[in-house]
Amino acid sequence: MSVKIYLQEDEMPRQWYNLAADLPHPPQPPLGPDGNPIGPDQLAAVFPMNLIEQEVSPQRWIDIPEKVLELLARWRPTPLHRAVFLEKALGTPAKIYYKNESVSPAGSHKPNTAVAQAYYNKEFGIKKLTTETGAGQWGSALAFATSLLGMECKVYMVRISFDQKPFRKLLMQTWGATCIPSPSDQTQAGRDILAKTPDTPGSLGIAISEAIEEAVSDPKGETRYSLGSVLNHVMLHQTIIGLETKKQLAKFGEKKPDIVIGCAGGGSNFAGLSFPFLADKIAGDDITVIPVEPTSCPTMTRAPYAYDHGDVARMTPLLPMHSLGHEFIPPPIHAGGLRYHGMSPLVSQAIMEGLLEPRAVHQLECYEAALLFARTEGLVVAPETSHAIAVAIQEAKKAKEEGKEKVIVFNLSGHGLMDLAGYDAYFQGKLQDYSLPEEDLVASTRILDNYPKPKVFAGV
Ligand SMILES: *Cc1c(COP(=O)(O)O)cnc(C)c1O
Repeated sequence: MSVKIYLQEDEMPRQWYNLAADLPHPPQPPLGPDGNPIGPDQLAAVFPMNLIEQEVSPQRWIDIPEKVLELLARWRPTPLHRAVFLEKALGTPAKIYYKNESVSPAGSHKPNTAVAQAYYNKEFGIKKLTTETGAGQWGSALAFATSLLGMECKVYMVRISFDQKPFRKLLMQTWGATCIPSPSDQTQAGRDILAKTPDTPGSLGIAISEAIEEAVSDPKGETRYSLGSVLNHVMLHQTIIGLETKKQLAKFGEKKPDIVIGCAGGGSNFAGLSFPFLADKIAGDDITVIPVEPTSCPTMTRAPYAYDHGDVARMTPLLPMHSLGHEFIPPPIHAGGLRYHGMSPLVSQAIMEGLLEPRAVHQLECYEAALLFARTEGLVVAPETSHAIAVAIQEAKKAKEEGKEKVIVFNLSGHGLMDLAGYDAYFQGKLQDYSLPEEDLVASTRILDNYPKPKVFAGV
């Protein structure tokens, strides 16, 4: 029995799939501070126009440029494995498959969009990209991509992670990027915060403000900002994951999956695997599609669908999405990286259309799942990825109770070889389960009352 299927390089998909073309209702536009829809021109200081066009495109299929295919071919296509050893340990009749995105040079799915974004920026004449990074996964993916294209890259890394996680910073340096702790003295936003709170640990919101400020204040106009998740064009670039998976499942002899699972922070690895299957679901296939989040940051399962900013400093437009409020600070008890307050507007709308069944999992169950996976399949996964494995195991156990040979597919979004401190905390018994208290959720979402409400779709 084969346990993994590779594709040849020439079998790599040559187009990305755009879910916006097939959603029952058209996506709602981002809004400016005045509540009016913003046009492409208002984003032009932050993103290059060729990416803005993708962001708003209603086209179902978008060609992947030849040069981007070449860049992706450094590590793609990625293998689809069958988790026979995990199945055996569970004694389940279900067949569990996982798409292994951890084989990229940066160790996760993030380079899929990093190389595409770097390419489009370079085509547009941009010489330098700025971005923020929390734990360092996105910063290292963009550093890798810009190094391949001979571009400059500056990463504002949340100060506490910068101090606690030196290895991701060293990866970025290895790929030639500059990585500095945020808040820094290199931007007005950073200086203001340092003047008030010199000892602040920093936050993603502050780092985003610094990265955008540096991009928009380049007097030569040769710098842009790059975001690693949430936006439509990022979801688009990640669909190569699901498109490859379809071909590989066919080679395993499967007609369709019964259950598709991915962990969701901003939504990109989940969307990448699942959106091509959602096309089939919309066309009538019976597929259960599950995005998974931590109980400590319950964006999809408990937060309202609302218009909100993507960052604390309110530099981004208002996006229609599930949001805990842009000032939400995730509890430090939680070790995983799925801590963003919002969710991709496309994923959020798919939830509202009744296409997805989001689920929240406690972190101890996630680490237990990650250990079982490491001790059966061998791979040590990122703490984020463990959320997808926990639900795959839940579903495999259910299939056992029901005596059904279900086909389960999940996305292995990244390896955990740089996240062993989280495993250490688990081994030492320092981690605990935590559900966001209802009063905290009410308090952090109160801020959403200030903004217009997106349309809620009838019949769901
Ligand atoms: C960044 C990251 C995530 C969460 O981001 P999404 O945009 O939701 O995919 C999940 N897994 C890994 C390994 C990551 O690096």
